[in-house]
Amino acid sequence: MHSRHRPGTNICVYCGAQKGGRREYLEAARGFGERLAARGIGLVYGGGSTGMMGAIAEACMAAGGHVEGVVPEGLFPGQILETGLTFLHQVDGMHARKSLMADLSDALVALPGGLGTLEEFFEALTWAQLGLHVRPIALLNVSGFYNHLLRFLEHSVGEGFVKSRNLEKLIVREHPDPLIDDILALIGRRGGRRGQGATGSNHRARTTTNVPMVPFTSSTINSRNG
Ligand code: AMP
Repeated sequence: MHSRHRPGTNICVYCGAQKGGRREYLEAARGFGERLAARGIGLVYGGGSTGMMGAIAEACMAAGGHVEGVVPEGLFPGQILETGLTFLHQVDGMHARKSLMADLSDALVALPGGLGTLEEFFEALTWAQLGLHVRPIALLNVSGFYNHLLRFLEHSVGEGFVKSRNLEKLIVREHPDPLIDDILALIGRRGGRRGQGATGSNHRARTTTNVPMVPFTSSTINSRNG
């Protein structure tokens, strides 16, 4: 049974719409979703039903967790989770979606994924560099998936393009619980504040609760809002 009250802590997860080529990736997505539910932490994610996205959301919901999907209106037809979400936020476009996902969350975590995941992760990191938010940012480095990226980031520091202080706080863990512990410690040190609330966005979202078992269309969203 889902609660409509938002948990005190919510984590935004970016991850692949694909399942990847190793079973460890999907297992990690499921495990992360289960640990969030077990620890009473809400999941905010892109609302997708496929690959890593579908796996983390389904596992979190199955474990009784609080799951919010943020979907851009009209995009990803047939690939949005239609049932079981605690909240479904519908926004105008990809930029509004990323802003709202961050604004709803206390921390931002990337699991293995593709270009979309990397873009979301780097925007979160860049906004932190610019001081637009102070949310903890983390990589769940499943089976060393992000090792090459981490080496490239070190290379970028060495070559003088990235300041090491902008990477110092990046949390990199292989397993969910230590990663969540690190995030909670950082949030705790800030007294539970998210820092600057807005990410410079001026998004408008339509939100529905406990999305029922009907096909996902704009008209059904509208009627549920009523
Ligand atoms: P990728 O890593 O390229 O698979 O893209 C995954 C990221 O892009 C997710 O975190 C989503 O925010 C977004 N995204 C890409 N494809 C979809 C989809 N089919 N449904 C929902 N979101 C998606």
